[in-house]
Amino acid sequence: SIVVTGATGQLGNLIVEHLINRGVAPAEITAVGRNTARLAHLAATGVATAVIDYSSPASLAAAFAGAGADQLMLVSGSEVGQRVAQHTNAITAAVAAGVRHIVYTSAPAATTSALILAPEHKATEEALQAAGVPFTILRNGWYTENYTAAIVQARENGVYLTSAGDGRVASASRTDYAEAAAVVLTTPGHDNAVYELAGDVAWTGTDMAEALTEVVGRPVVFSSVSPEEHTAILTGAGLDGGTVGFVVALDGNTRDGLLAGGSTELATLIGRPTTPLIEGLRAIA
Ligand code: NDP
Repeated sequence: SIVVTGATGQLGNLIVEHLINRGVAPAEITAVGRNTARLAHLAATGVATAVIDYSSPASLAAAFAGAGADQLMLVSGSEVGQRVAQHTNAITAAVAAGVRHIVYTSAPAATTSALILAPEHKATEEALQAAGVPFTILRNGWYTENYTAAIVQARENGVYLTSAGDGRVASASRTDYAEAAAVVLTTPGHDNAVYELAGDVAWTGTDMAEALTEVVGRPVVFSSVSPEEHTAILTGAGLDGGTVGFVVALDGNTRDGLLAGGSTELATLIGRPTTPLIEGLRAIA
């Protein structure tokens, strides 16, 4: 069967949906995660389920063996700082279970990028290379859904504020990345491939403000601030230091073009253009 981790999360759930849409029998899919309520919801669609924790090798071994795992869709975890050990646990368990193909969701140019999120993905990619099982690396670019808070802000105060300057973001909707994963899991020819996945269009802050204007139905201006000003604004709004540092660093990465995409591999895999920014925003507004 195809084991999908992170199936209790947003991307993994969409991957399960796309697998079924592409004709995979629900019984051939095993959805795994920690959240038992969401697993029960998934089970109601006919897929098999199992509880796993990336930090528990025994849970991974039991789930993969129980599923008769043939392919592993390893959706990267969300516990930043713990993910190298966690992902390595999953890869080790998959190899022991005789999985023939592991697909992993990585980050843009993970092995060379200065993106603050890249190191854990780079280390996971290296663990995959060393595992000796055919793999496919999906270097997912930014989700348009990451701008959910920007919609709220735009609606409240008519401003899209960043310290990303004129850095561009080639975002795509989660469903685009999920569909690409389903394609890779259901078609041949992806062994040991590394795909740089991103939206077709790399938009600027001005483009985002224009799209937000349409979506929220009030004029939204792009407010471009320095990293220092951004830090002061977010701190003043009550965000903790760690979150402020993360947001400002990511905007710095964006300013440096690290999320600007440039590859059309996502559109090629899914056989259609990626979801335009405005449509992606409308879907979550
Ligand atoms: P979600 O937060 O919706 O889902 C995260 C999933 O990871 C959940 O299913 C969660 O399981 C699972 N998970 C986390 N820790 C563990 C663990 N210790 N053991 C087992 N499962 C675990 O994220 P998304 O679906 O939106 O995104 C998927 C991944 O993509 C993220 O985890 C992150 O690595 C990355 N990401 C990428 C972004 C981008 O723009 N490209 C933006 C944000 C994240 P459960 O809920 O059952 O605990």
